[in-house]
Order: sequence, then structure tokens, then C-alpha cells
Amino acid sequence: TGVIDVEKIRKEFPILHQQVNGRDLVYFDSAATSQKPQRVINALVDYYSGFNANIHRGIHTLAEKATRAYEDTRLTAQKFINAASDTEIIFTRGVTEGINLVASSYGKAFLQPGDEVIISGLEHHSNIVPWQLICEEKKAVLKVIPVSDQGELQIDAYLKLLSPKTKIVAVNHASNSLGTINPIKEIIAAAHRVGAVVLIDGAQAGSHLEIDVQDLDCDFYCLSAHKMYGPTGVGILYGKKSILEAMPPYHGGGEMIKEVTFEKTTYNDLPYKFEAGTPNIGDVVAFKHAMDFITELGKENIATYEHDLLVYATEKVSKLKSVRLIGTAKDKVGVLSFVVDGIHHFDIGQMLDARGIAVRTGHHCTQPLMTQYCIEGTVRASFSVYNTKKEVDQLVEGLERVINFMKP
Ligand code: PMP
Repeated sequence: TGVIDVEKIRKEFPILHQQVNGRDLVYFDSAATSQKPQRVINALVDYYSGFNANIHRGIHTLAEKATRAYEDTRLTAQKFINAASDTEIIFTRGVTEGINLVASSYGKAFLQPGDEVIISGLEHHSNIVPWQLICEEKKAVLKVIPVSDQGELQIDAYLKLLSPKTKIVAVNHASNSLGTINPIKEIIAAAHRVGAVVLIDGAQAGSHLEIDVQDLDCDFYCLSAHKMYGPTGVGILYGKKSILEAMPPYHGGGEMIKEVTFEKTTYNDLPYKFEAGTPNIGDVVAFKHAMDFITELGKENIATYEHDLLVYATEKVSKLKSVRLIGTAKDKVGVLSFVVDGIHHFDIGQMLDARGIAVRTGHHCTQPLMTQYCIEGTVRASFSVYNTKKEVDQLVEGLERVINFMKP
């Protein structure tokens, strides 16, 4: 489609060119983690074979080179999400750590008994449990934005939940189990009208959706590199400078201090105040190349290409016998979730795997959402810029065979 040359892109992903169970691999599990282009793999090898050293404290050449590469990724990330300053970019292990950092640090400092935190019915467990933990500790109350049958947030109900008691709103940009894209700009503006801060879980947005944190005016935004063609174990927490400055440290240790005595420690400036200890230098260095890959292709081009695959797959899969789509929102990223009446999703996943097709099955870390649909889980096929319509045809053919075999 258009400017995306999928055959050229596929050549950059060595892992895609293999057989699984005797068939060409079809990888439809990029919402769990995306595959990595050769340039990201090379960046890891180059770092460990060329300039591995600890950063910031060293004055020798390798330490300076490693520090420069590490800080280069921060500058790339700043541009990637249009943050006002690179001091607003904190490296984390991923979205999970970013949310825990905010819940713990901001929550500890600013939540009072009786205050309210709002999340949504579409959230991943990592945007539920950290809030439950801090609410329990601070005797604050957790409220949940309801979800419609189509899998969209009920914004009228959200507006009614907001009050001067609301201190934090935390929702995802796009849902991992249904694909729903949420109207976060509207959600953020409404929260600000009652004086609450907003955290956006961008795990499923990083590689597909435009992210402009200044235009969104969000207070926090979390990303995981591994869902954006980058390595595992690294992510970004964006936070507005004035808010991050007002927050206490999350972890204590080296690097996050200015001066330590046994009586009192003063903390380092942003972003180092939140980066205690030796960070994941190699993966941070390689993450830059993943963001460059996305930027070179263009998010809009990626989104258009993936949307085309989603529409094609939705039409074909929904026509299959006994298939019921879960989540039919108007705006979706490339996630197709469905159940087949009478066949367990694990069985479908296993039989597709026997044909070399990788899909996700289960509750996708969104058990409350599954409960709303009265199901235990779904089969989820998620699409990326390296997938093709031919692969969708293979999925459809595989599903047809599974269904005919199990329900002759
Ligand atoms: N939120 C959403 C919407 C996700 O899809 C995921 C990953 N499945 C997470 C949070 C957690 O991300 P990570 O495991 O990379 O910390």
C-alpha cells in the first residue's frame, strides 16, 4: 500500500525468514512484542563489541562514547514525542515501571485519604494494580470508566466521575486486547478542568500513533521500546518538568544524588533523580535505532498500512463460521480479537501454531475487560508494518481448517 514497501521492510527483519513447524512463520503477535530490525540488533552488537562502559562518571574515551550514545537516545526520544525538554525523558524498564514510578512517587506525595484515582475498564493489569496498591496505602478510592459493548470508553460516564476529589486519571492511548484508540486529548482536557493530572499508557501507541505530548498536554506518558521494534527491558517515562521536580525519588542509589552524607542526601537534577543505579545502557543505545526506523517510515504511513491489513482481516475473519469479534470500536490500531463459539481459544492458538502462525490467546492481562464480555479470553491477531495480506490469507485459511475440524 502506498509508500510502504513491505518486501523491503521484511528484509530488515531476520527473524521473519524461518520456518516454524514446517511452514513459513506468520508473526501476528506484535502487540505482545514486535520483532527487531537488523539495525537494532547491530546496535547492540556494536555497543558491546565497541564501546561498552559505564556512563556519566567516567572520563575515559569509552565512557564518553557510551554516555554520548545513551544521551543521544534521550534526545531522539524527546523529538519522537515532542517533549519540551530532554530533562523530561526518564529511562525505565518499560511501561510497567513507568506507571509504578508515578503511582508510587506522585501518589505518595500528593494523594490524601478520600481522594480519587480514575482508570478505565480497558486497562492492562499494569495500569490497574499499581493504582490499587497506592490507593490502598493512601486510603484513596479507585474509580473505573465503563466500556461499551463495542469496546469504547463511555465518555459521558467519565465526565460524571470527575470531581474536585479526582487527583489522577490514568488511561491507555490504545487498548492491547481490543485495539480501541481512546480520545485521550478530550480525556486529558476534562481531567485538567478539575485539577487532576493525567498519565497515558502508550504501550500500544508507540509504533503506530502520532504522539505529541505538548499538544496532548498530558502530564505523564509511558512507552515500552520492545513494542516499537526496540529491545526488551527499556522504556520511557515522560513527565512535565514542574511535576517531576515536585515528586520525591522512586529508587535510591548511585547517579540519582548530588551529595550524600549519613545525615542528609540531596538529589540530582532531572532526569537523573529518577535514574538510580547503572541503567540498561546497551538497550537504551539500541532503542534510538528503533525510533529512527519508525520515523524514517513515518507513523502515518505505518498506521495507514496497518489499518488496511486490519480492515482486510476483519472482513475475512468475521465471515467465518461461529466467529464473534470482540471489540468493534470505530478507531482501532491493528488488533483483531475474536472468539469462536464452542472452541477454546487455547486450542485455536495451538492449532494455528502447528501451521506456523503465531497469535496470542488468553486474557491479555485485561481480566476485568474479559469479565465484562463474559469470556475467559480471546484469540488476538495483531498486525505490524512487516505483515502482508498473504499472511492474513494464511490465517484465514488456518482458522477455516481449525473450525471445520473442531465443528464438522
Ligand atoms: N499497557 C498496555 C496497553 C500493554 O499492552 C502492555 C504490554 N502488553 C503494558 C501496559 C505493559 O508493558 P510492559 O510489559 O512493556 O511493561
